[in-house]
Amino acid sequence: MIQFQQVSKKYNDQFVLEDFDISIKDGEFFVLVGPSGSGKTTTLKMINRLIEPTDGDIYFNERRLIDYPLKELRLTIGYVLQQIALFPNLTVAENIELIPELKQWSKAQRRARAEELLEKVSLSPKEYLHRKPAELSGGEQQRIGILRAIAAKPDIILMDEPFSALDPISRGQLQLLIKELHKELATTIVFVTHDMNEALLLGDRICVMKEGKIVQTDTPEAIRNNPANEFVAQFFQQEQSPLASYFAEDLFKAGLLETAHISDGKAVALDTPLSVLIQLLAAGTAVTLVEDGTVLGQITDHTVLRFLETMMEKGDQ
Ligand code: ADP
Ligand code: MG
Repeated sequence: MIQFQQVSKKYNDQFVLEDFDISIKDGEFFVLVGPSGSGKTTTLKMINRLIEPTDGDIYFNERRLIDYPLKELRLTIGYVLQQIALFPNLTVAENIELIPELKQWSKAQRRARAEELLEKVSLSPKEYLHRKPAELSGGEQQRIGILRAIAAKPDIILMDEPFSALDPISRGQLQLLIKELHKELATTIVFVTHDMNEALLLGDRICVMKEGKIVQTDTPEAIRNNPANEFVAQFFQQEQSPLASYFAEDLFKAGLLETAHISDGKAVALDTPLSVLIQLLAAGTAVTLVEDGTVLGQITDHTVLRFLETMMEKGDQ
């Protein structure tokens, strides 16, 4: 259904993706997993043409992506981001009905769909249809974000670390939900995560990426039993080390960042492992957390130490 043929992407003469060949099957739950900066978001955004390749071709149902009208393509592809992107001034119903409306479904059809979907995720339509996003918890907002993406029955759903900003419980609930919805809808899902456990849990097939290259593409069982190389094997172990299960995002969520208005020193993303932050700080580099062009704050030695102290206080190190 989606095919990358020798796709490369360069920024300033530097490869971000190199000779990328993947073939995603119709109805497949396909997971891209890899450390921060390995090119996952870039790959995903190429599928709905938010980013164009420098070289190579991408096919969707045997037709080149660039031969589709952009509007048709965007309506065919649902997109869920890590940061909940509900429209704050629209109600839950209006948010869910947005794409169906663009696809010119009738008012009655749209409302019936919104109600059906809310019931699927155990939110009572009566209670939730008319709420604004601010009146929902983070987990509920992300649930609505997923419903909005699937409301108009897209052929493909792209998800970029959709659960990584949630607490472990909401995260577990939504992992189950998306797995169930996938089974039920038989839609193709392309899902990005930096968490190997999440990849193994969700994927029909997993593509492990490193520095813009594919390291291994296979089923969870095959990857678990036969990691292609040391990097893949390490990637599992990393998940088991307590320090390696923390990311810049955890410092951010703990409210420990210092204010920064411009990106100072090295810009890192939310999914940068704590171990990498520690290496950077130890080398005397100033570190700023930036996500999608927004500066979220400064990470200093103090931030990291304070975070580790909090973990130890909780007996959670
Ligand atoms: P991931 O999602 O796996 O963390 P990305 O696809 O966001 O990785 O980025 C891959 C690499 O491309 C990173 O090194 C990043 O810094 C770089 N990159 C992404 N967007 C741009 C851009 N607009 N200009 C220059 N470099 C970029
Ligand atoms: Mg990313």
